[in-house]
Amino acid sequence: MSRNRHHPKEFRHQFNEPWCLYCGEPSQVLDHFPPHFCGLHGYLFPACSECNLIAGVNYPQDLEMRIQYVKDRIYVKYFTVLNMPSWSEDEIQELGIELQHNIRYNLAKKQNIEQRLKWDAISYLKTIFKNIGRKPPLLSPTRID
Ligand SMILES: [Zn+2]
Repeated sequence: MSRNRHHPKEFRHQFNEPWCLYCGEPSQVLDHFPPHFCGLHGYLFPACSECNLIAGVNYPQDLEMRIQYVKDRIYVKYFTVLNMPSWSEDEIQELGIELQHNIRYNLAKKQNIEQRLKWDAISYLKTIFKNIGRKPPLLSPTRID
């Protein structure tokens, strides 16, 4: 089995959609699924850098578990910001300017992470495969329409 990225016999279908498969943020890189060590064939999914890095070689044979793994890691990574208390505008106004800035930044971050965790990756996956007339691979039978 070759690990060469440019192996002449490598064939992967490349999806050029604009959103990260795992979280819906703008896509920055291509995520190899299955990862290289599993073989030469498969898919190149749009992904943001962070999700691509987290996904790595985890769950190389199970796309649904891979998606869940990425979401779980994001949840753990941002646990503190996800669990910060909500602040009213009045409460924020009472703080010093630096603390105000800090709270607003973290509230925006919290909102962004919540949106990424809510992203329906399975529906997105089904849609991008439907566009090429195929069914997504390696999903539980109940997930496939
Ligand atoms: Zn992502």
